[in-house]
Amino acid sequence: MTKKDLYIKAYHLLEQVTPLTFDCGTICGRACCHGDEESGMYLFPSEEELLRSSGFLCLTPTDLKHKDGRPVLLAICPGECERIYRPLSCRIFPLTPYLDMEGKLTVKMDPRAHTLCPLARNVLMEELNPKFIKAVYIISGLLLRDLEAKGFIEVLSRLLDEYENPDFLGLFPK
Ligand code: SF4
Ligand code: SF4
Repeated sequence: MTKKDLYIKAYHLLEQVTPLTFDCGTICGRACCHGDEESGMYLFPSEEELLRSSGFLCLTPTDLKHKDGRPVLLAICPGECERIYRPLSCRIFPLTPYLDMEGKLTVKMDPRAHTLCPLARNVLMEELNPKFIKAVYIISGLLLRDLEAKGFIEVLSRLLDEYENPDFLGLFPK
């Protein structure tokens, strides 16, 4: 499966399922869509090829690097979007795939979502829509079949480790 096909499949799997069985944006005023001009969603490797024609996403390189040294791109939006152009990170929010140091895949609440998302703060993952959790698991498993996407999940997972425990890297002497 090409990366493009992989992302299209992932988009479809998450087209109809959302974190709750109703629109969770009604709880918080769609807080996750109202960042500033410097906040946005990381794109998976080469995901920009699907989104360049959206016309509303500003794609910006970040300091975070893919394993091949390319910068991870951030998609910044004006707070409104055409649903078909939502990046994968928007579709799975507030969950994230996570690879532990042994390479075991889990899906968990994204620690970066805590300040923003009432679900991440106040709801157990088990209380989310089971269809949503299942779809994120299926997609995460599919993404691992692509080496670059897997590499990005590894990079992201170490970033989340640092986010949750700023002393994390100090535990592993160079
Ligand atoms: S911030 Fe959380 S609760 Fe609000 S719309 Fe986004 S995912 Fe739903
Ligand atoms: S792209 Fe759409 S779903 Fe993603 S943050 Fe922007 S408005 Fe929200």
